[in-house]
Amino acid sequence: MGLLVVSAALSGCSSGRDAGRPDVLLITIDTLRADFVHSYGFAVETTPRIDGLAQRGVLFEMAIAASTATAPSHASIMTSRYVREHTVGSLNGATRLEGIETLADSFREAGYDTAAFVSNVVLKARSGLDRGFDHYDDELPESEANRLMYFERVGADTVARARAWLEKPRETPFFVWVHLQDPHGPYTPGEPWSELAPEVPLRTDRALPVLSVNRGRGGIPHYQALPGVRRGPRYAGLYAGEVARTDAQVGELVDAAERATTSGLVIALTADHGESLDEDGFFFQHGHTASPEQAQVPLVIVAPQLPTRRIAGVVSHVDLAPTLLELASLDPLPHQSGISLVPFMREGRPLPPRAVLSDVGHEIGAYDAEGYWTIKVFGEGLDWQRYQRDGRGFRKVDEPKLPSDIDRYLAREVEPVPARAMSDQDLERLRALGYLPPDPN
Ligand SMILES: [Zn+2]
Repeated sequence: MGLLVVSAALSGCSSGRDAGRPDVLLITIDTLRADFVHSYGFAVETTPRIDGLAQRGVLFEMAIAASTATAPSHASIMTSRYVREHTVGSLNGATRLEGIETLADSFREAGYDTAAFVSNVVLKARSGLDRGFDHYDDELPESEANRLMYFERVGADTVARARAWLEKPRETPFFVWVHLQDPHGPYTPGEPWSELAPEVPLRTDRALPVLSVNRGRGGIPHYQALPGVRRGPRYAGLYAGEVARTDAQVGELVDAAERATTSGLVIALTADHGESLDEDGFFFQHGHTASPEQAQVPLVIVAPQLPTRRIAGVVSHVDLAPTLLELASLDPLPHQSGISLVPFMREGRPLPPRAVLSDVGHEIGAYDAEGYWTIKVFGEGLDWQRYQRDGRGFRKVDEPKLPSDIDRYLAREVEPVPARAMSDQDLERLRALGYLPPDPN
């Protein structure tokens, strides 16, 4: 393996540009519901830069996140495997990716200069998501407002780091993954973003209680609470403001990557999951269900020689790695669960019939062309409900049997691997915040 890596890297150094491989920019936005992007139907034009990508690339109307929690979702993007097929499993922040080849491995072995810039504590290098990256920037100098132990970095700072890296002269193509955190709660976009869509109507318009827990059933989760703000539509408006602010950061990043590229640029933009905004009585939360408001994410791909189109069929995070590798003329990952979307983007033919999965451990969503299933998992037991597409929404239908490919998925589970130890610096920060017993020394 070591020898193979070295020889691939050497050939990449000498011929990376000659081979004509494109540069690749992967942007993942935390907690971005598809329907808060204007080109996915959001009424206010808060996302001109993402919409600009959609206008010159391919927009997938029904892209499903492999999980509605951050770390497992990103592990599926990087490995093209569903949650029960990788070692992060459905735990968020306590487990790590181990022993599975990633998208970044493939790019690095092909001679690419690889870098990642992340902004959420569960994506730190201890998660194993640093695998395949020559440079992994997970410095998180801030804390969430109501959960000081949740370290993070605002998008502007993450983008500044990524831009500086992109500006370095290099002889090889680059693969850069940038994760932007800002739409994740609490929703504090600041000016001018907070007034772009001051309120977004929700089912409930009354003042909501602030809950002592983070689940968000029937009220404002503790971690989301903003001083003096109680009405749901205002929270949703501030969320739209965070999306708008992030859109501007996306623009800066795309501009920097376009200045840096010399051999053509592939851009893929998606989110790790969505967010509940009063669906089934859940507010401002994710990672609890696999239903559409949490599982459906934007997915836009721009690449040289790709036509502009919108694709209606269901696609998944696990399709991203096969697609990006094919766009760079590289071999697929071994044991991938996704498919390359390149032929469908190029030729516009219909996607194959299949169900794609969104798995949060205790609940699995399986999405197909006609609707979706939610499958609740209780130890060895299962309980499911089928929803059929009905106009723009879905309605419950009786369905006595699960499809056999979902049964096969449920029958397997890779053993999760614990995350690596926290850095001394992070432990020290936690101690200073009072979260761990003080060091006896
Ligand atoms: Zn997330």
